Parts: sequence; structure tokens; C-alpha cells
Amino acid sequence: MSGRQGGQDGEPLDPDRLVAEMLHQSSEDLQPGDLLTPPIAPASLFHTPGEPSAAHQYGRWSNPTWDALEQALGALEQAEAVLFPSGMAAIAAVFFTQLRPGDRILLPSDGYGASRGLVDAHLKPYGIEPVLCATKDYDQQDFTGFAMIWAETPSNPGLDVCDLAAAVERAHTAGALLVADNTTATPLGQRVLDLGADIAVSSDTKAINGHSDALMGHVATRDGDLAQQIRDWRKLSGAIPGPFEAWQVHRGLETLELRLDRLCQSAGAIAARLVARFPDLPVRYPGLADDPSHPIASKQMLRYGGLISVTFPSAGQAERFLSSCRYLRQSTSFGGVHSGGERRQRWGDDVPDGFVRLSIGCEPLEPLWDAIEKATAAALAE
Ligand SMILES: *Cc1c(COP(=O)(O)O)cnc(C)c1O
Repeated sequence: MSGRQGGQDGEPLDPDRLVAEMLHQSSEDLQPGDLLTPPIAPASLFHTPGEPSAAHQYGRWSNPTWDALEQALGALEQAEAVLFPSGMAAIAAVFFTQLRPGDRILLPSDGYGASRGLVDAHLKPYGIEPVLCATKDYDQQDFTGFAMIWAETPSNPGLDVCDLAAAVERAHTAGALLVADNTTATPLGQRVLDLGADIAVSSDTKAINGHSDALMGHVATRDGDLAQQIRDWRKLSGAIPGPFEAWQVHRGLETLELRLDRLCQSAGAIAARLVARFPDLPVRYPGLADDPSHPIASKQMLRYGGLISVTFPSAGQAERFLSSCRYLRQSTSFGGVHSGGERRQRWGDDVPDGFVRLSIGCEPLEPLWDAIEKATAAALAE
């Protein structure tokens, strides 16, 4: 198991120390002349004479570049991390290893659409029954009879939250596993395993890589048996990351904390300024003191993230805002260095036509705010 263990047995480490440990965790075993950065190992084969016992034998089973990224992610999660080539591949690994015919799974109706889509298209035919519930209603939902509770908080794109520690307790009473998709918050924004989740999944395509140039995902758990099942799934299903992408994401991860600080601080400032400057424009950000998500978010999040939602009166005004804002890339996804935005209704999310998800990036705040303010004023003047 990689990383120092926290959670149930030990005190969770302070998150700043986790970052320092993550950056230096491979420093202990160095020999003179060793690489200080992970090797990119584009290998399908490894020297495997006689009875196979070497750490690496075949490229679908393991890879030294994956190891480096798994150890770094494991140090942040304080858990065993298993890498996948995308967030969806990580999510699929959890579904396919943990659900059996006859099981019921509770999924957020306002969560990432492909997670629901995968269950509907490929698990339902095997007798697994999905039940949907809005994230803000998880706190009232009865978990009896479920095998798995899937939580995504804050939800993407609505930014509603549920109380994770309370959900874990009720899930465990019901005999269900609680899995948290922690993509929007990252392990530095929300310690879902410390809050008791059995499994954390993440799309590392977002803030963890942060540079919009690679897809990746991981599953993290402090349960060794679960981790082994997930690893075995990867070996058998062949859902494996490329070594180069693993190296890219390792490099991205090393600056996650710096980038996250910038984008969370900017998002907090921009959300507050939008509310002050355009009082009639609906704005959601869990860090805003009067946001409906704030009471729970402030209890369980360390950082409120870089996502803001803004609902323009019409799709036309939203499009006008997006196309006229100098420092917004019109793109899906979030958590990158560059700020971006899009109208989510175009993907079929259950949101108003003028609903824009803003992903705040690492640009300095004042020019970014200036661009957002001008584009908002111009769009609203239409
Ligand atoms: C993007 C995303 C995913 C899927 O990740 P990919 O890397 O695109 O496969 C899953 N969950 C959430 C919350 C996401 O935002």
C-alpha cells in the first residue's frame, strides 16, 4: 500500500503536510545517480526469466510510471490509489466490481451524466437497479435496501451538496458501500475518505492534471480487499493508462495545491463580486455565505473549488457572455489553468437554457474579473 495511512486507525494528517509528503515521498530511498523525476516507461514487456516474481512482468498488469503517480495520489488520499485512463474507467471499475444482479444503487440525478448513463446502458440489463435522487435530497433519502450509495458533492454542474459523514453513517447502517465522486473538490478540497467514504473516485482529467492535455482517473480506498478487486479489474478489463499520460498527470499533480489555491480564491472573489454587481443574476458557489450549499460545504470542505454557476435569463444572453469574454475558453470540463465556460443545457443537463458553468482558472484575478464583468454587463444589456 502506498502513502502513509490515516483515517480510522490514525489521525488524518494535516493537508499541508500531505502535500509536502506527496512532493517528497520518493526521496527516502534515493541512491546516487537516481532519477529525481519518474521515468516514462513505454514498456509492454519486462525481463521475466524463470518463475515470474519481478515487480513488473507485463504492461497490462503494471508499469513504473503508473507506480509513481499512484504513490503520489496515494500520499494525498492517504489510501491505496489505482490509476485508470479516464474518470469514467475508474467509475466503471467500481460499478463492475462491486455491483451484482439484484443490487440497487442510489445515484445523484444531478450528478455527472455518464455515470448514470453507464449504469442505464450496461448494468441495468444485468439486473442492477438504479434509483435517482437529487444531491440536495440525499440527507432525507432512505438508504434501506441499497448495495451502493453514489455521492457527488458538490454536484456537477448544479453545485448542490449533501452531508457526507451523515450519508456514510446511514449507508453503513443499511449495509451499503458509500462511494464518493470527488472530482469537483479533489482530495485537497474535501477529504472524502476521512469523512468515512469506502471508496473515492476522481476524474484526474480535471484539476489534478490541470493542464487540459491528458485524461486520467483513479480509485482510492483504505480497504485493501477493495483495492485488490479494483486492481484485478484493471488487469482483466485492460482499462490501462498510457505511461506518457501518467507522467503528465504526475507533473500536473505536483502543482495541484498551488493551482487550486489560486482558482479557489479567484472563484470565491468572482462569485461574491457577481452577486454584488448583478444582484438579479442567479449565482451559485458553495463558498458564498448565503448559498444553500454553504452550511454543509463549510463543514466538510477545505476549499470550495473553482466552479461557479450563473444562470442568464436566456440561452442567447449566455452565449453572448461566453463568446465575448476575453479570458474564457469555450469548452467543456473544468479545473484547468485557463478559465472556461459553457452552457450545460447543450449536453442535456437538467438546467435552465441560460445556465452557464464557469470554471475559474489560474489567470490573475483582476484582469479575469474585468473580462467577466464586462461580458456579463454586455450580455445582460441585450
Ligand atoms: C469529468 C467527470 C467524470 C468523468 O471523467 P473523464 O476523465 O472525462 O472520464 C466523472 N465525474 C465527474 C464529476 C466529472 O466531472
